[in-house]
Amino acid sequence: MSHAVTLIPGDGTGPEITEATRRVLEATGVTFNWEVYQAGLEVLEKHGTVLPDEVIESIKRTKVGLKGPITTPIGKGFRSANVLLRKKLDLYANLRPAKTYQGLRSRYDNIDLTIVRENTEDLYAGIEFQRGTPEYEEIIETIAQTTGTRLNNDSAMSIKFISVMATRRIVKFAFEYARANGHRKVTAVHKANIMRFSDGLFLSTAQEVAKEYPDIQFEDRIVDNMCMQLVQKPETYDVLVLPNLYGDIISDLSAGLIGGLGVAPGANIGSQYAIFEPVHGSAPKYAGLNKVNPMAMMFSGVLMLRHLCEREAANRLEKAIAQVIAEGKNVTYDLKPRPDDPTAVGTSQVADAVIEKLQKLS
Ligand code: NAD
Repeated sequence: MSHAVTLIPGDGTGPEITEATRRVLEATGVTFNWEVYQAGLEVLEKHGTVLPDEVIESIKRTKVGLKGPITTPIGKGFRSANVLLRKKLDLYANLRPAKTYQGLRSRYDNIDLTIVRENTEDLYAGIEFQRGTPEYEEIIETIAQTTGTRLNNDSAMSIKFISVMATRRIVKFAFEYARANGHRKVTAVHKANIMRFSDGLFLSTAQEVAKEYPDIQFEDRIVDNMCMQLVQKPETYDVLVLPNLYGDIISDLSAGLIGGLGVAPGANIGSQYAIFEPVHGSAPKYAGLNKVNPMAMMFSGVLMLRHLCEREAANRLEKAIAQVIAEGKNVTYDLKPRPDDPTAVGTSQVADAVIEKLQKLS
């Protein structure tokens, strides 16, 4: 069976790593019917938006997207195509596995963490009030009247909110993912001792959901303690479920634990659609140089294969990439002992090496 997948190459180094990933995915023997669409600044002039309707329509048809990174210039007034995609398709779960492979330069050798980050609420929902605006004056007044605390006029505000509905579905997602992928434990991360209402609700809802999964161990950690424990004994953790902001920070911390952004995959998943993409951005300074590591996107492809129920091909591709890492020969500069190592290979040569391993494994 051929899988219809929407392919968004992205910009900067995106097209190069997308092409390398497409080649290794096809070399697994699984067949794809790629629907290729572009998003981001490149299409803004033609379509008047960074996310044309045709991209959304394609994903609604295929249900699955594989995406390269897309640049969002800071302070130019553009909305991020990445954020728009997540919003329009209600991709509420951000999945970021962090796993050590032999040969990666990491202080640890046995990490297998999966970060499940809530993608729609919390301080990241964009509900903000600019200093000095009439709307903000009104909020300050309401807060003064309802709490007796008058905020300084020279402040600005971002609202943190957490709902039962969104917490239930992200925690259920974490447990379902744990069950489907043989994980033994889910840890809910929060700061409920200080933010008693918002994070308190996250924690109590997670505790309720946990009762529906007696086969999976459940525990909770306060986020600051979690950071320390991840640095001291990351091997004791398995699946972590977190509100948006903590999830963003802890997933970068976890990428650092396993050897960097070049090998950190990700996915944004909703109840109907899923988009697989590396954690890193478009690294524009290396665009067109055949230089950056395509493995984060290749590992995102592994996640996509599992999502498409192509488990055997997923395991084979993961093994082939792991073998290339372990040999340490055909790897990009970021996986070499020094970034200026003259033996580092380029993006497309990594794909060649992975395909060679795949051929031996099949
Ligand atoms: P970045 O992740 O693009 O790059 C930061 C640095 O990390 C690079 O300079 C490079 O040294 C290294 N790096 C990143 N990917 C690598 C790879 N595959 N191999 C080797 N080294 C790699 O972060 P940035 O510079 O902050 O962001 C650049 C642009 O990407 C911004 O416009 C940002 O908005 C966007 N971005 C997009 C996404 C997405 O599409 N999902 C995610 C993050 C950032």
